[in-house]
Amino acid sequence: MSLLTQKEANAILGVKQCTLCGDPKHLDQFYKRKSMRDGHRSECKECSDKSRTERKQRQLEKETLEKSIELAKKHDEAYSLVMGWEEKKEPISSIIFNYVAMVGFILAMVYMILDGITK
Ligand SMILES: [Zn+2]
Repeated sequence: MSLLTQKEANAILGVKQCTLCGDPKHLDQFYKRKSMRDGHRSECKECSDKSRTERKQRQLEKETLEKSIELAKKHDEAYSLVMGWEEKKEPISSIIFNYVAMVGFILAMVYMILDGITK
């Protein structure tokens, strides 16, 4: 009497060991794949679904990260654009500042003169 290997015994019973979780499961617990010798995937449905969900999750995380980077880049571009604009604007804003300071100074002088006259 010859002893069957585990694999042979499994094949007779219609059972297959999942390469991911290692659990022996019935063939109907494996998705079909024609290219495989027994016509089934090497990982069970549960593991297939799990890894597919994880792959989707990773893909989603990757896309979210890429979107964030793209957004940050756009933000950076907009920021440097505004900063460049601000730099160009600066002479004008300093002119305005000087003008306001001058007007304030004149008003103060006028107030002081008027104050001096009324005393
Ligand atoms: Zn499995």
